[in-house]
Amino acid sequence: MKLAQRVEALTPSSTLAITAKAKELKAAGHDVIGLGAGEPDFNTPQHILDAAVNAMNEGHTKYTPSDGLASLKEAIIGKFKRDQGIDYTPKEIIVCSGAKHALYTLFQVLLNENDEVIIPTPYWVSYPEQVKLAGGVPVYVEGFEKNDYKITPEQLKQSITEKTKAVILNSPSNPTGMIYSKSELLALGEVCLNQGILIVSDEIYEKLLYDGNQHVSIAELSPALKAQTIIINGVSKSHSMTGWRIGYAAGDKSIISAMTNLASHSTSNPTSIAQFASIAAYNETQEPVEMMRVAFEERLNIVYDKLTRIPGFTCIKPQGAFYLFPNVKEAAILTGYNNVDDFSTALLEKAKVAVVPGSGFGTNDNIRLSYATSLPTLEEAIERIHQFVLEHK
Ligand code: PLP
Repeated sequence: MKLAQRVEALTPSSTLAITAKAKELKAAGHDVIGLGAGEPDFNTPQHILDAAVNAMNEGHTKYTPSDGLASLKEAIIGKFKRDQGIDYTPKEIIVCSGAKHALYTLFQVLLNENDEVIIPTPYWVSYPEQVKLAGGVPVYVEGFEKNDYKITPEQLKQSITEKTKAVILNSPSNPTGMIYSKSELLALGEVCLNQGILIVSDEIYEKLLYDGNQHVSIAELSPALKAQTIIINGVSKSHSMTGWRIGYAAGDKSIISAMTNLASHSTSNPTSIAQFASIAAYNETQEPVEMMRVAFEERLNIVYDKLTRIPGFTCIKPQGAFYLFPNVKEAAILTGYNNVDDFSTALLEKAKVAVVPGSGFGTNDNIRLSYATSLPTLEEAIERIHQFVLEHK
């Protein structure tokens, strides 16, 4: 059967591909350490599990409104008020089946054929594919390593055409862990306001910030920027709830209303039980969120020092999320590989460590390692990579 053109153009997720290859090697009896995963290794906190069980026992197992339970929307509104000092009304919020689905739904309602969306590189793997699935065209703007992989207002301005509809900002960033400062966001925001470009602000790693850094949402910087921004967020990374599939979008009510209309014909609603769990996630204690953040920061500090001692590895220290994104071009050359893709394959097959090559994120010189795994496992993985480079150079 000939499939639709829109799926033929889809690139499979590189993070899932490496995970599949690592699993294959494990199944064949190899002792592989996987650093490809993008999810916290902690269990969902107990009080959130209890809320889900209670919801089931109380019979909350039916359809909910397509845009989410009113009580969850209130909890999300409370979170925005508490954390960002921004006021949203329920009509400005839609709850979706994960932040990924919120983004997917957003691009579906936003883009006409050939509308352009500016995507800074390195980017999260799903942005370009989601834009293409909606008929849009990704326009890449390079976040240079010397600028901490961030784009400048001048670069943004230059990439805007009459077809530009939106720009995606992801701070803290997957894969680089970099964050935009308040002044950088203001400068980028000014360009978007002047040119009438919608800002899609993916803030899913908001709670994972290190070294005293505080999260700044571009939407909190002025009423005009709030009106120009759709915030994407969710409980997956902050509350270790990746499998529950709850994310949301907040912004202009006509966009949210179109997304709700689309959701009513696609998912109907996010899982009722997961929505009740998410109410507990936002309305009850935030201590586990901080506990996980502290654990990630401890790992980052230990692993970062070890990683940067490997010959041919250079790495800007991440300020957030749970990934390291070293430039390993030199290490690839030192060990006799033509490119970082081949070097990554060698790390998997010979050093038995699964990392994701940067090509999937739009950069050829880097690899992404996730530190969302236990410290002893991480230390062993870095040691294996170090040994591999020493033995092959
Ligand atoms: N945005 C970014 C930058 C991510 O890294 C991820 C998950 O890896 C998501 C969105 C999707 O999160 P969710 O699990 O809520 O769909």
